[in-house]
Amino acid sequence: MGKVELHDEPNPFEEMVQRFNIAAEKLRLDDGLYQVMLTPDREIGVAIPVMMDNGSLKVFKGYRVQHSLARGPAKGGIRYAPDVTLDEVRALAAWMTWKCAVVNLPFGGAKGGIICDPKALSNAELEKLTRRYTASLMDVLGPDRDVPAPDVNTDEKVMAWIMDTYSMHARHTVTGCVTGKPLDLGGSVGRREATGRGCKIVCDRAISRMGMKRENTRVIIQGFGNVGSMAAHILYGAGYSVIGVSDVHGGIINTLGINITKLMAHVLEAKTVVGFPDAEPISGDDLLVQPCDILLPAATENQITHENADRIQAHVLCEGANGPTTAQADEILFDKRVFIIPDILANAGGVTVSYFEWVQDRQGYFWNLKTVNERLEEIMVNSFDTVASYADRHSVNMRIAAYMLAIDRVAFTIRERGIYA
Ligand code: NAD
Repeated sequence: MGKVELHDEPNPFEEMVQRFNIAAEKLRLDDGLYQVMLTPDREIGVAIPVMMDNGSLKVFKGYRVQHSLARGPAKGGIRYAPDVTLDEVRALAAWMTWKCAVVNLPFGGAKGGIICDPKALSNAELEKLTRRYTASLMDVLGPDRDVPAPDVNTDEKVMAWIMDTYSMHARHTVTGCVTGKPLDLGGSVGRREATGRGCKIVCDRAISRMGMKRENTRVIIQGFGNVGSMAAHILYGAGYSVIGVSDVHGGIINTLGINITKLMAHVLEAKTVVGFPDAEPISGDDLLVQPCDILLPAATENQITHENADRIQAHVLCEGANGPTTAQADEILFDKRVFIIPDILANAGGVTVSYFEWVQDRQGYFWNLKTVNERLEEIMVNSFDTVASYADRHSVNMRIAAYMLAIDRVAFTIRERGIYA
């Protein structure tokens, strides 16, 4: 097998491969190791029958991809969405491997997904779906094997069902089988806001490199779910000026700055940012190309493409989402000298505090918020600085530097373990 063939219309996995190829070439990765590192260790598809509230039986399709187990148990979220595909889950699993390696956690990478429209399901149906998916994957999950976490449309409640189902089958309570759980079920303080907090920490590093001050830094955020809303809240609290926000229903803008505390209260009632009285309405697409200092996509993949990259006016792109920028858009942004904090670094705060949660569950000893946040800050700052110095040393941009660092670390582990071939 030679290099992976790429098509004209890249899918998420191919988007990942394009960056991997550049980094692998710079590192002169040999062909054998290239294949080992790109081929997922395990890909599992499961049928999930659910007895619906109306008495009918419906079968859903679910996936779990364990991309790499080289550096430790696989780690990665589970998403529920109608457009989940195996290629998407495969890409997200590989990104988890690189992300855990960039922040130097003792984990491999995995991701899961179920093709469903969670908004069309009742709470009881969602619970059955989650429990049956967990039961079907019982043999490959677990604290030493693969530890899921929340992702798009999954939350603490879903993680609690996973923990309970896993524990019922294991015949004892296993809190470390999943992270992002409610606090009283073995969750960690600081986990809910960790991805957003991590984004703020790397934004601080980026603006200080550029000699900018927080209070003069205008931020636009796409997506107002876990990552987007927490990033907005923490950036606002730290003195940044958040001037625009969007969700799947539309966007809002106020060039003088939005009061995020008030916006969060509005979203609690209205379930959308749309209609917030102290800002002007704007379409989600237009919001992305408005003048600002930091653009923080926190929604989904492929939002910045060759079609809009040229019109992006931000100086810094902080990727809260996974894979928000296509490889083609990367080149346009590099030419425009946009400083990219790549997803596998920018949104690694979530998996870092997931790691803390797993450690605390295994120790049965829980840390306070100050300890969690200080350790998160230390890891994010060190990781940003390591990637930045890698970029300077190898004369590459931050994205390729992050991939090179990750690939280097995973390759080192594989070589040191030896390949059981
Ligand atoms: P979420 O489901 O909580 O929120 C997603 C948000 O994006 C919602 O507000 C939704 O309305 C909005 N959205 C969807 N499509 C949109 C569009 N086209 N335009 C504007 N807004 C849109 O999901 P999340 O957990 O916040 O995850 C968001 C992204 O961050 C995903 O790429 C996920 O993989 C990544 N991520 C999440 C975590 C985490 O800890 N939750 C960690 C790392 C990375």
